[in-house]
Amino acid sequence: MLGKRRVIKFGKSGNVILRMYLVFDIGGTKTRIGISSDGQALIETKIVPTPADFETGIQTIKQVADDLSHGQTIKKITGGIAGPLNQDKSMLIKSPHISSWIGKPLKERLENIFNATTFLENDAILAGLGEACFGVGKNYKIVAYLTISTGVGGAKIVEGKVDQNTQGFEPGHQIIKPDGIPCKCGGIGHLETLVGGSYIQQRYGLKAEEITDPAVWDEIVKFLAIGLHNTIVHWSPEVVILGGSVSQSIPLDKLLEDLTVLSTIFPRLPKVSKGSLGDQAGLLGALKLLR
Ligand SMILES: [Zn+2]
Repeated sequence: MLGKRRVIKFGKSGNVILRMYLVFDIGGTKTRIGISSDGQALIETKIVPTPADFETGIQTIKQVADDLSHGQTIKKITGGIAGPLNQDKSMLIKSPHISSWIGKPLKERLENIFNATTFLENDAILAGLGEACFGVGKNYKIVAYLTISTGVGGAKIVEGKVDQNTQGFEPGHQIIKPDGIPCKCGGIGHLETLVGGSYIQQRYGLKAEEITDPAVWDEIVKFLAIGLHNTIVHWSPEVVILGGSVSQSIPLDKLLEDLTVLSTIFPRLPKVSKGSLGDQAGLLGALKLLR
């Protein structure tokens, strides 16, 4: 979809200089990169595997951005990355899935390479913002977003803004099974170890989208329902949105059935829905934050 407005300048030679916005979403497995000319709509996007190595990651972002922008000047950059960030949001401080990126000056490197102001945020926060503002959450005031992908993340979005927080949101690392297996973050029995894509593959030998046995889904959904119940009683949302690749395969009817049994304190369940923006949720959330 082409943006409506473009910031157009004329260079000394008279050539038109378009000023572009770069947005990205670095997940545990895939990185999505997009370009916008007006900060409102994405012109073009590309998905590449997330490089395990930070330096390779920087080069990949640079290369894809150059391809997508056709060499036009990047004015501003906003992007998400999988894991909690440090206080000034310049780098990742913990990540079970892309450990080589921890403590590396991501913001500074991008600002130097592109000579453009850069904002970083947690990837689930941006995807939540995208779904809350442009996806199935757009008519709701209080949105609980959970992404179930390689790992599990989430965010509380209130009236189209990320709710106030001191260290982010990490509903994927709530304890569901105190005698469960270790989580890559160092904890035990976290929601992520029970419903996250990389753990599902370890446990069942299949990717989520390959699992057809209803008994396996019953087990996964049972734990997801406990996690969502906890999130609902803490965040009190009007709608719960499930994003991320694994959530596409989750049987929603069974999940609602389990949630209804667990929900004994509130008179009604919030609406529970799968996200509608797919891979673009994080990029659209990044555009929203950029504005
Ligand atoms: Zn954990």
